[in-house]
Amino acid sequence: MPWRGTSSKKVFKNPAMDLSKLGEFGLISRLQSRLKYRSSQVIQGIGDDCAVLSLNNGNYQVLTTDALVETIHFNLKTHSPEQLGWKTLTVNISDIAAMGGQPKFAVISMSIPNSFPVDFLDRFYKGLNQASLKYKVALVGGDTVASPKHLFINLALLGETLKKKVFVRSGARPGDKIFVTGTLGESALGLKILESPRKKWKGSKTLQKKLIQRHLKPEPRVEVATWLAKSKFKVTSMIDISDGLTQDLGHILKAGKVGAELWESELPISKPLLKYSFINGLPALESALSGGEDYELLFTLAPEDVTYLGKESITKVDPPVTQIGVITTQKGIRLISKTGRSKTLHRSMGFNHFKGKA
Ligand code: ADP
Ligand code: MG
Repeated sequence: MPWRGTSSKKVFKNPAMDLSKLGEFGLISRLQSRLKYRSSQVIQGIGDDCAVLSLNNGNYQVLTTDALVETIHFNLKTHSPEQLGWKTLTVNISDIAAMGGQPKFAVISMSIPNSFPVDFLDRFYKGLNQASLKYKVALVGGDTVASPKHLFINLALLGETLKKKVFVRSGARPGDKIFVTGTLGESALGLKILESPRKKWKGSKTLQKKLIQRHLKPEPRVEVATWLAKSKFKVTSMIDISDGLTQDLGHILKAGKVGAELWESELPISKPLLKYSFINGLPALESALSGGEDYELLFTLAPEDVTYLGKESITKVDPPVTQIGVITTQKGIRLISKTGRSKTLHRSMGFNHFKGKA
């Protein structure tokens, strides 16, 4: 629908209400409380990685949408048009994976400044096409409108679960084991490098490129999610890590009314992250705990289940999964250091729109 803007001062009752005080999640729950219509076909509404819908009696449908705004989510100086196209689709695919679903159909809306080169859009669609081929997503429509200044992109994606098997955020119970796919924190360091091109970064260019690539080209973990959905494991909760481990684990804990203990020694911190952080005097642990845009999966399994998840089956999945801690009755997140000391972590460490980096 076309947006015909008027000065907010004339139209709105309380223009002084500060979004930064509400924060992203405060705003969402405030807006949610305004919506009264309920449908019996909605299995899970606002509050998870995707909405879960029951449109027929067989499988569940999962629906998600994500917006990317120039200067906030990406910078045209750091992202090539192809990378942006790839990212636009894959960040949504990650939310579908986080529900244990298969991505299927997408629609895209773009708000484009008049001055934008057509070549940019061609290349953007090249990246979009690459991701759509790789993850088998059909792009079936959208909307194209002008924008006063910046590029604004929104993509909505519909996926499907195997029968009615869906992984929500809310089922973690004390004693459940916490797992994560792949490695953590590289994307955040990659972004840091991209944002400070003038800084004299030490270390090999290959290493640097690897970290940057993690930020520019996310690879959602659809394969692991599908493997889990087909397996005997009882996944009690799942989320994708888009805002940082601590914050996204916080969502699982809040939804399940539980706490967690994380083990520093088990956090999957890659050699490139460790090495590059060390030579540049940066804390690798902090990147792993609170860096955003890893697009790894974070999930919990009932303890009796984990007997199946022996080393053998772990190495069968790509990337491997690692147990990083355990769900506790005691609320909050405690990090057990390599020397055995316990430290409380703040749930808000991570990215929160309107509040910025906590
Ligand atoms: P994610 O990071 O997984 O994409 P978000 O943190 O953006 O999820 O959103 C949390 C939940 O709130 C999701 O269920 C999302 O669909 C919902 N949501 C976000 N913004 C709005 C909005 N403006 N109105 C209604 N629901 C929203
Ligand atoms: Mg998500």
